[in-house]
Amino acid sequence: MAGAFAAAALAGHGRRVTVLERDTLPAEPAPRRGVPQGRQPHVFLHRGLMAVEELLPGVDADLRAAGGVPLDTGDMAWLGEFGWAPIAPQYGIVSATRPLFEHVVLRHVRALQGVEVRDGTAVTGLERASDGRWVVRVEGDEPLSADLVVDASGRSSRLPVWLERLGLPEAPVSQVNAHVGYATAEVRVARGRTAVPGIAFLQTPARAGGLALPVEGDRWLVTTVGSGVLRPGRDRQAFVDALVGLPDDALADLVADTDLGEVAIHRQTGNLRHHYEQVRDWPDGLLVVGDALCAFNPVYGQGITVAALEALVLRDAGPLLRRDAGLIMRRLAKAVDLPWRIATGEDLRYPAAQGSVPRATAMFSAWTRVLGRLSAHGSVEAQVSIGSVYHLMASPLVLLHPSLVAKALRARLLGYGDPTPRPRILGTDDPPPLALPRLGIQRIPRRKRGRSSETSGTEPESDGKTVIGEFQTGS
Ligand SMILES: Cc1cc2nc3c(=O)[nH]c(=O)nc-3n(C[C@H](O)[C@H](O)[C@H](O)COP(=O)(O)OP(=O)(O)OC[C@H]3O[C@@H](n4cnc5c(N)ncnc54)[C@H](O)[C@@H]3O)c2cc1C
Repeated sequence: MAGAFAAAALAGHGRRVTVLERDTLPAEPAPRRGVPQGRQPHVFLHRGLMAVEELLPGVDADLRAAGGVPLDTGDMAWLGEFGWAPIAPQYGIVSATRPLFEHVVLRHVRALQGVEVRDGTAVTGLERASDGRWVVRVEGDEPLSADLVVDASGRSSRLPVWLERLGLPEAPVSQVNAHVGYATAEVRVARGRTAVPGIAFLQTPARAGGLALPVEGDRWLVTTVGSGVLRPGRDRQAFVDALVGLPDDALADLVADTDLGEVAIHRQTGNLRHHYEQVRDWPDGLLVVGDALCAFNPVYGQGITVAALEALVLRDAGPLLRRDAGLIMRRLAKAVDLPWRIATGEDLRYPAAQGSVPRATAMFSAWTRVLGRLSAHGSVEAQVSIGSVYHLMASPLVLLHPSLVAKALRARLLGYGDPTPRPRILGTDDPPPLALPRLGIQRIPRRKRGRSSETSGTEPESDGKTVIGEFQTGS
């Protein structure tokens, strides 16, 4: 993806851009070897879709035409660390499988003037010719000569080794690994089976999380995610058991009567950042983007968005592309900073992740949790503000808006009030509380289950009856 976006950013101006891809790309959308995460759900943040549209106008429409499902993330049933988030409009995204997204993007890239996508071509080395041009070695073919090389070969990029051979100093590396594992299965879900466009249960250090998103072809990708000992396995029964163990029944119920597809797992999820911007005398004509520069724990859905934002940095670099690659690397590092802080600030709370949190990051993370608690007690403002930062649509400063600070103080002094009611998730669920505001009916869980202390304030443990109580409209 990062390579495709970079090609789009650099195309034009009479340039010839060659994308070298090791895999033979499938003619139709399909998972492939070079992208082992291809069967896992990919959430495209609103900011990312905007950036992709800027780079490749028409991708959004083509994605929808190919069956991608438009949805508003604010309409999803969202169970956070402290309880249910209020349903309120937020940001539109299109939900699709990674192979479809990639297929649509590559079709657009191939149509750009001066761009050639050469698949089945593995890069094996990078050297510098005596005239200063780059020499890109490829397997079984003549090397290519280029003025500018952009490494977009993903998390397992060999660039550090090639740079060492060129005699360049090693770039510092930052790593924060919460040892998160994904397990995903595809299910067919009848239209109308769900009352919400998507379901997300946030994972925490104490509990596994889950996700269900519709994708093209009337399918849903159902996922469970956990860290350390909570990492899910590939076994189908273990997958179902993991869904049953989640803090709400909806995902287990969703797959209950379906023909569960094969379970795909993925465990290479640590945050890994190469600080190439700190290398002195960074060579001109060499840039690094995407996971090869900074790979994130994917639970925050940032990788593709960041790759697209990095491509905008390349597009806007103009003549600097030839003259000052070091400055562009510093700009790219800046584009990575906020998503890096979001991901690592959260992940460093996990016992499996080792390392100390920088103070500012720890404060950001702690304050976000305060707002999360407000959201779980009906504050739409808190929920929308958190969403705008996670979608990379706003600066984190929006989280410090005086009205949010006032709400947090009031909650601290007077209590948080009633929890946000659980939304109606499946078509067969009890009627949604929002439909019955005057009666104040709030659905509480059918099954009694052990929970972590963080969620216990969300919904009272019960014998599963519908109760009449105070009702909060969540505004
Ligand atoms: C489980 C999981 C879930 C994810 N979910 C999301 C999500 O919800 N939202 C999101 O935005 N991101 C998500 N991501 C991250 C996302 O997949 C990546 O950030 C994104 O693909 C950008 O990566 P990239 O293009 O830099 O690298 P990749 O997608 O890894 O692509 C690298 C490409 O380089 C090719 N290549 C490698 N070496 C060579 C070589 N020597 N020669 C030629 N070609 C080579 C590979 O074949 C591959 O095609 C997820 C990642 C994982 C692991």
